[in-house]
Amino acid sequence: MIHLKTLPELKLMRESAQLVSRTLGLLAKEIKPGVTTNHLDRLGGEFIRDNGGEPAFLGMYGFPKNLCISPNAEVVHGIPNDTPLVEGDVLSVDCGVYMNGFYGDHAYSFEVGEVAPETKKLLKITKESLYKGIEQCVRGKRIGDISYAIQEYCEKHGYGVVRELVGHGLGRKMHEDPQVPNYGRKGSGKVIKDGIVLAIEPMINMGTEKVKFHSDGWTVTTLDMKPSAHFEHDVCVIGGKPVLLSTYKFIYESLGIVSDEEDPFTMDF
Ligand code: MG
Ligand code: MG
Repeated sequence: MIHLKTLPELKLMRESAQLVSRTLGLLAKEIKPGVTTNHLDRLGGEFIRDNGGEPAFLGMYGFPKNLCISPNAEVVHGIPNDTPLVEGDVLSVDCGVYMNGFYGDHAYSFEVGEVAPETKKLLKITKESLYKGIEQCVRGKRIGDISYAIQEYCEKHGYGVVRELVGHGLGRKMHEDPQVPNYGRKGSGKVIKDGIVLAIEPMINMGTEKVKFHSDGWTVTTLDMKPSAHFEHDVCVIGGKPVLLSTYKFIYESLGIVSDEEDPFTMDF
């Protein structure tokens, strides 16, 4: 069952989502060669607690750390450790916050130092596919319209769209109905209504779409060990249109990037 949210609930959800956004903005300044993912995990966890939230992934289904941090061929659910980052790495950081009774959950794939042109392209296309999906998050359309838009865009560029892991509804629980796959048929699935909140999250591989689930119970890598990217936003529907609850603006401030990509999905409410 899909839990549609009221405007006051959406305002609270925006606070949870934006605490994730600010945490990712803080980490953006720290991500460089030589830094360990454990360091990033500690910093992120402290920042969330200092700002009145709880790191939502810690203990969720038994996850041992604050954040999921997944370098290179790791798709998602990477466990932070003491291995230093290396120039040219891709680093996917997924962060969850619980605050005010609601969850925020979003993710960004960072470049570590200078990365190869083909890596840059993977990140660019994956992020663009996220916005292609968000564009479809409109009252009266269906979940499959989001799924199709993401799949079509990524496969057109020759990338593998992960099947085993999907986006989801978000609210008082981290994973609510409906599931939001990154592949699917136009016009299929549940109808999108005002008040829906979705975590849309393309997980896109440079090579094969196939992934491997590792024996630690968490880490998921690409089967061919080529890099993977993951971008995730929390999106709601107000007045029939998609509105972002999360934002990358804090990351962009940290990295000195100018972008208008969020403008069509930004609304004061
Ligand atoms: Mg996430
Ligand atoms: Mg998610």
